[in-house]
Formats: sequence, C-alpha cells, structure tokens
Amino acid sequence: MIDMLTNVDVGLVVLDKSYCIRMWNRFMEDHSAVTESDAKAKNIFTLFPELPENWFKHKMDSVFLLRSRAFSTWEQRQYLFKFKNYRPITGTEEFMYQNVTMIPLASADGSVKHICLLVYDVTDAAIGQKELQYLNLELEKTSRTDALTGLFNRGYWEESFQSEFDRCSRYGSDSTVLIFDIDHFKNVNDSYGHQAGDEVIRSTAGLVTQLIRKTDVAGRYGGEEFVIFLPSTIAEKGFIFAERLREKVEAMKVSYEAETIKFTVSVGICGFDKSLANHEKWIEKADKALYFSKESGRNKSTIFSLE
Ligand code: GH3
Ligand code: MG
Ligand code: MG
Repeated sequence: MIDMLTNVDVGLVVLDKSYCIRMWNRFMEDHSAVTESDAKAKNIFTLFPELPENWFKHKMDSVFLLRSRAFSTWEQRQYLFKFKNYRPITGTEEFMYQNVTMIPLASADGSVKHICLLVYDVTDAAIGQKELQYLNLELEKTSRTDALTGLFNRGYWEESFQSEFDRCSRYGSDSTVLIFDIDHFKNVNDSYGHQAGDEVIRSTAGLVTQLIRKTDVAGRYGGEEFVIFLPSTIAEKGFIFAERLREKVEAMKVSYEAETIKFTVSVGICGFDKSLANHEKWIEKADKALYFSKESGRNKSTIFSLE
C-alpha cells in the first residue's frame, strides 16, 4: 500500500496541524528536488516560501475544522507547488498546472490531526482546454468579421442594429443610422483594377474605424457600401459626423502600386423615430436618403425626410 502511494504519478503529501510534512512521495521528490528525508518534519512554508501561505492556511484550517475536503483547481490558481513543466506535448509551458485535493485524515478517535494533499499534474488537459477556449474566441471573432475590412460583416451588424432598434423602441433613445456608398466605384475598378478597388475599400474602412467612438457600430453592408449606427445620437449630430467622414474621404489619397487614387462617398442618414415599424424600415429610409445624395450630385450627406 505504502509502496503504491510512493510511486503513483500524483503528488502525495501528509501535513500535521502545524503544517509540518509527515509524508512526501516520489512524485514530490522528483518535481521539487527535495527528498523525503529532507522534507520530513519540516514546516512546508519554510521549505517552500513561494506557497500562498494565507490562502493555503485558510483552506487547510477549514479542512481541519469542517472535516471535509477542499480543492484548488488550475483555473483558480495555476499551481500550488511551483514545479517546472517537462511534459513533451506541452513543453512550451514553463510551469506545471495542478489540481489539488486536500483530504482530512481521521485518527482512530475520530479527530483530524493530519491532512493529505493530492497534487495532480493537469498540464496537458489545461493547455488543451485553454487552446480550445482561444480557438472558440477566434472562431467567434471570425464569424462576425468581414475579412477584407475587419469591420463587422452584414449578418452580425444587422443583428446588433436590430437590438439597437429594440432598445430605441423601448426607451425612446435617439440613435442614428448612416449608410454610405463609394461614388463611381466601378470606375476605380475599371481604371486601376480590382485589387486597387479592394485597397480603396480597406482604406475607407480604416478611416471609419478611426472616426467612430467605442459605442458606435460599423459594418460592411455589401461591396462598397458601409453602415454605421451611432447610439444616443440625434440625426443632426449624425449629419455632422457624416460630413466629417465625407470630407476626410475626399481628402484621402490611396496609394496602390504606382497609382494614387482619389474618390468620394455619398451618405444617407436617418434618426430613430417611433413610427418606424422595424429595423429594416429604418435602414430603408437611410438608403432613400443615400439615393437622394447620389441623385443630387454625389459626394454629399442627406438626412431622410418625407418632403
Ligand atoms: P455609384 O456612384 O452610383 O455608387 O456608382 P458605382 O460605380 O459605385 O456603382 P455600384 O455601386 O453599382 O458599383 C459597385 C461596384 O463595386 C460593382 C462591383 O463590381 C464592385 N465591387 C463589389 N464588391 C467589390 C469588392 O469587394 N472589391 C472590388 N474591388 N469591387 C467590388
Ligand atoms: Mg457605389
Ligand atoms: Mg454600391
């Protein structure tokens, strides 16, 4: 029995009430480079000053008092004992990930005078889980991002926009939506090529990202069409934003290979109104205003109005 406990691939430590080591198995010897004979009868905090003493004592005291187990998981605390990680698969991690179980050991008279610590090396599982979490996060990001511009794609943008519509309907908030489209973009593609066109779209998106506030939400609606909603912003303020954007675009020069490309955009703006039946109607009105900007000469911003 003792032999088995000595050789298992789990750390096994027995401590008494004064936190002195009573047992120290092979796993602990191997990873700490402290032999059992050196460890025995030593105070664990003297031997391992890097242990989180207050936290650990608090845990152990509750095990003594309540006579029930306590745990420490790698998610709360990567390790209790700072052991180097030598696992081949997860070799890039410097330190071992540990789950630790603290078990009360009852004496013959029922009193608890010792605690047994089981230290599990969970490095591989922890890294696997962390990688999975990271991948899921990346996947989530990818699924809502437009690849060319890095702005939100239409699906995600529209979903957020719908929530914004619901919020405005419920709380009567003044939010504004903008839709804008690059003027004569076919000419850009025809004159400089599709790649240059892509560069123009990317640069326009970059400008949008620079100009919006944290709470504004910008997306790519289609080819060279963009949408932005400005929460808690009235249409007149939205117009000022649109004009700033329009002027910045007009002033911008996009370099592609040896070429310098200049272009303009037209903008349509619509503020939230209680009479709007749904978010589609809202954007539809902004689109009508955009159409007006195009019809009246392009390189313009227009607020939707019925007249
Ligand atoms: P208008 O001023 O009326 O908007 O004229 P326009 O030439 O921009 O007209 P329109 O919006 O109809 O043309 C958009 C063109 O954009 C057509 C399409 O070939 C091109 N396009 C759509 N998506 C992309 C893209 O991702 N990259 C490039 N380079 N071109 C695209
Ligand atoms: Mg266009
Ligand atoms: Mg278009």
